[in-house]
Amino acid sequence: MDTLFVLTGNCTLKTVESAKEKKLVTTVRATLACCHKPVSIRRVQFVLLVTRYVKFSNSSMTRKMIDFSKLSEDGLREFKNRYDAYIFDMDETLIQQNGSPIEGVEEALNEIAENGKSIMVFTDNCLAVLKDVAERLNGLFPVIKKENIMNAGHLVVRYLKEINFKKKVYVIGSENGIIADLKDSGFDVLYENQVRVGAVVIGSDLNFNYLKMFNATNYLADPEVLLIQTHVPVVVAYNPIIPGVGAIIASLKAVSGRKDSTATGKGSDYCSKYLKSFGFPAERCLFVGDGISNDVVAGNRTGMDTMLVLTGASSLENVEKARAENLHEQIPTYYANSVADLIKAFKT
Ligand SMILES: [Mg+2]
Repeated sequence: MDTLFVLTGNCTLKTVESAKEKKLVTTVRATLACCHKPVSIRRVQFVLLVTRYVKFSNSSMTRKMIDFSKLSEDGLREFKNRYDAYIFDMDETLIQQNGSPIEGVEEALNEIAENGKSIMVFTDNCLAVLKDVAERLNGLFPVIKKENIMNAGHLVVRYLKEINFKKKVYVIGSENGIIADLKDSGFDVLYENQVRVGAVVIGSDLNFNYLKMFNATNYLADPEVLLIQTHVPVVVAYNPIIPGVGAIIASLKAVSGRKDSTATGKGSDYCSKYLKSFGFPAERCLFVGDGISNDVVAGNRTGMDTMLVLTGASSLENVEKARAENLHEQIPTYYANSVADLIKAFKT
């Protein structure tokens, strides 16, 4: 029987009975194939620092969350050295619902930056234009550079520019957010009219209604019309339940019969591509957020380690429920009470 000794990120030694897990052996063989030296699969001890390991360790069979507060001094030191870039969610990760900073977050961010780490923010929130979001966040946390802040709404702008889109756009979304962002970027935006459009774009809309559904589904009857959504999840928080853009998309797909859509928010391929464009290898990045269905999924799908902070949408009970339902992409690498706790790793 093959035995693999895997020294994991938190420096615990795990033994995996690979004969029972043929799939794991295949993954590890593929990983070892990336090594320059030939290594016997019979008995191996190694530290995996490659993206494929993240996928392997994300498996719900082996995955155990690390309680950040229980890391030893060595563990904290290793944590500090492990990542070059920190990607943070915004709402209820850095700031409270009322827009004020979460206590201790600024000090932690300053410490992270002083240690030479890069800080970025990615938010699915497109109720405000990116420019305003960036200015507000930079005002609260000067260490976060405006150019390192992005939202899913502005990624729609980028996407449409990339595909050289020139037609009209019908938008369901916030007038002060994604609609303004598209207009400011030169796109011809409609939201109450009956003319030909080339794309239907869906963002968070607190005033979503029957008329908007009527317009959108009739546009979507033409298969040439693109369907673009910002964030992906149907539910973004559970207590209370907060429906996501995925819920609007589900209704439009049910009525129009469309199955295809392009997403730009957390968890989408386009978002992963954007996150990788920062220039850091995924395994050197940590994605930190308060939501398991968006933040943790976004990090895991990009091959990054992830940290759930218990200051917002998701609780440890939500994680256990996800595990029970085999939603392994929602299981974070770490959990911590708050981003403020990260300062511990940089003070040791
Ligand atoms: Mg959040």
